[in-house]
Amino acid sequence: MDSAAPLETSLLLSGEDVPPVLERNVSGRSPFLLTSDHYGRLLPKALGDLGLPESELSRHIAWDIGIAGVAERLSDHLDAHLIAQRYSRLAIDCNRPIGAASSIPVFSESTAIPGNEALSREDADARQHEIFDPYHVRIDQAINQRAREKRPTILVSLHSFTPVYAGVARPWHIAALYQRDTILPPLLLRAFRAEGDLVVGDNEPYAVNDATDYTIPVHGEARGLVNSGIEIRQDLIADESGQQRFAERLARIFREIEAKMFGEAKV
Ligand SMILES: [Zn+2]
Repeated sequence: MDSAAPLETSLLLSGEDVPPVLERNVSGRSPFLLTSDHYGRLLPKALGDLGLPESELSRHIAWDIGIAGVAERLSDHLDAHLIAQRYSRLAIDCNRPIGAASSIPVFSESTAIPGNEALSREDADARQHEIFDPYHVRIDQAINQRAREKRPTILVSLHSFTPVYAGVARPWHIAALYQRDTILPPLLLRAFRAEGDLVVGDNEPYAVNDATDYTIPVHGEARGLVNSGIEIRQDLIADESGQQRFAERLARIFREIEAKMFGEAKV
């Protein structure tokens, strides 16, 4: 059978759907491996609109607004491998453990998600096998390959957060999110604060933990990689100029951190 064979047993994605994983600069030489769990807001054709209007499918409950434009530019500036998920977190959240209530949410912020109610085991499994698993398998493979090639890997999980959640305004512009890593988050926090014009969140508006996160605990901590999450407030990266500014700023900061960690920045 050829490589298209798995589609014949697909229960969810069809030939009309794009593959779940987007990659950029796959052979990038940077030690930074960038991931973007909430990069896209696509839904598989078979799921329709999950019973939601476009106004809901375009807001933060569906994806991390603005992060795609930052992640791609940052990947290019650094020549860093980016692995991103094209499908909406409303189909299955790639930064939640399988089985967590927020993995396939029936409710997000103030919105009920009809298409996720009373989901059969088979339908939930299909979302895992066809969206969640391919993404995490690729991250795993990329880390393995780098290890085989004896290349360092610093895992950075890129996210954005809504400026107002459940009626509460968030003051932070950018944040480092972490749980067990003691190397990268302090370096990021120091660099963000040194910028002078940023309100910096230290594990705000969220902290990473095993019950509510997947990418950092599983690919970063469990594998002993230096790692951190980065969160940027969505109103700052809503348009291309904001995405460009933050990508350039982060690229400069990452290069400085790379130089600190490895002695000299690679050119
Ligand atoms: Zn996110």
